[in-house]
Amino acid sequence: MDLYSGHINKLIDELSGLPGIGSKSAQRLAFHLINMPKDKVARLAKTIMEAKENVRYCKECFTLTDNELCPVCANKKRDHSMIMVVENTRDLAAYEKTGKYEGIYHVLHGAISPMLGIGPGDIRLKELITRLEGNVSEVIIATNSSLEGETTAMYISKLIKPTGIKVTRIASGVPVGGDLEYIDEVTLLRALEGRVEI
Ligand code: ZN
Repeated sequence: MDLYSGHINKLIDELSGLPGIGSKSAQRLAFHLINMPKDKVARLAKTIMEAKENVRYCKECFTLTDNELCPVCANKKRDHSMIMVVENTRDLAAYEKTGKYEGIYHVLHGAISPMLGIGPGDIRLKELITRLEGNVSEVIIATNSSLEGETTAMYISKLIKPTGIKVTRIASGVPVGGDLEYIDEVTLLRALEGRVEI
């Protein structure tokens, strides 16, 4: 027996497919949405569609952005010879929030995970190697300190080594298994300053 109407069930179903939303949260959100004024719901739906249609990958660093180039890559004052490799756009935002990093980024959109069947070809690694043909003095690997993040860091370092470009890894001020986005700015900066060549 269905507890709710078909439409409510469908809404709960869609919402519970989102990351971090369990069935209880999905139910709460669904009822919240239904109780919201119609114009607010319309605005939310429109915002989601507009974001989906207009957000794209920066053609340089592959972060998600509204324009061809993201604000970091478009900024001539940034040091374009220093590339920090991060797993996702949220990690990039975490470092940008510190306001102290002057280089640019490369967003992998994932990490190598043999367990989940994610190989080097499934993340933006090829694109990183292509970028190294330009004027690059250092690649800072700032993947998470999870097993996947470390595997990815090792893989990248082995790929880059033969080019003679300096490869560094952010220091272990970042707790093991810690997602960069949840770490405070001081710790992030300390990890960046304490980076070591690998
Ligand atoms: Zn960019």
